[in-house]
Amino acid sequence: MTVKGYAASSPGAELKAFEYELGLLGINQVDIKVEYCGICHSDLSMLDNEWGLTQYPFVPGHEVIGIVEAVGSNVKNLKLGQRVGLGWSSGSCMTCEWCVSGNHNLCKSNEGTIVGRYGGFADKVRAEAAWVIPLPDKLDAESSGPLFCGGITVFNPIVQFDIKPTDRVGVIGIGGLGHMALSFLSAWGCDVTAFSTSSDKEAEAKSFGANHFVNSKDAKSLEAVADSFDFILSTVNSPLDWISYIGALRPKGRLHFVGAVLEPLSVPVFPLLVGQKSISASPLGSPATTVKMLDFAARHNIQPTVEVFKFNQVNEAMEKLRNGKPRYRIVLKH
Ligand SMILES: [Zn+2]
Ligand SMILES: [Zn+2]
Repeated sequence: MTVKGYAASSPGAELKAFEYELGLLGINQVDIKVEYCGICHSDLSMLDNEWGLTQYPFVPGHEVIGIVEAVGSNVKNLKLGQRVGLGWSSGSCMTCEWCVSGNHNLCKSNEGTIVGRYGGFADKVRAEAAWVIPLPDKLDAESSGPLFCGGITVFNPIVQFDIKPTDRVGVIGIGGLGHMALSFLSAWGCDVTAFSTSSDKEAEAKSFGANHFVNSKDAKSLEAVADSFDFILSTVNSPLDWISYIGALRPKGRLHFVGAVLEPLSVPVFPLLVGQKSISASPLGSPATTVKMLDFAARHNIQPTVEVFKFNQVNEAMEKLRNGKPRYRIVLKH
């Protein structure tokens, strides 16, 4: 079977029409006919080989919404014609300690949808059935792709760290991930503060559910919220004044990273020790947590705010992401 997609031939290159052959379908695999695919910052990092993981030709795309077109003989959780989503992971070993305990996202042999294989900027994409999740009917297909990478990435720590509705929380960076984090944490019941260097995002941040807005360009405004938060989620991928954010935590507070900052953190232990504070990070969530996230999103009408481009405008869309301009996530459609 021939798949028609878009690939880059070298780091940073333009995406061009590209075809490849899919072999026989494995017994635990499914083929998805791609309807929509979100663009995540990781697609750009991978396109540029920022993490040294990329193989070329490189087909990006790991926020897929589509229709199940073929199922392997062993697949029991999905039906032909069903609408599904696929995120960062397209498979895991299913037998290690992490997979069997429901932590498939921590599997050492976790397979990335765009790592060493071809992703969702195509008319079809293949994945292991366990990682292909049905989209609830209540969710809108066009704007739901970003839930499968950005959405689950920001929802997972809420579950992992048992964030409570009584908690006061902050979200650093109001972009693709951050705007979804505001919606989830607000619906969860928390008192939510948005930290952004763009003061023009205040009204929108509040429309996503933020109760408060802090312009983090201004060091004084960070001082003003010292000792305020139980949980601060950083969605940015550039280094910030982490010491001030640790100062903004209450005792037992947690500064949690879901944005991949490449620069090492340099923070003093003393304020962490005195306040019994934590610093942590996590990748996307497991399939079970993804199901929970989708159910929660459907119940609370949480949909990413997206700009839609056609697949043949993929290079313009990537350029818009490169310039940091999307409000707030870009989705490609056929
Ligand atoms: Zn992603
Ligand atoms: Zn495993």
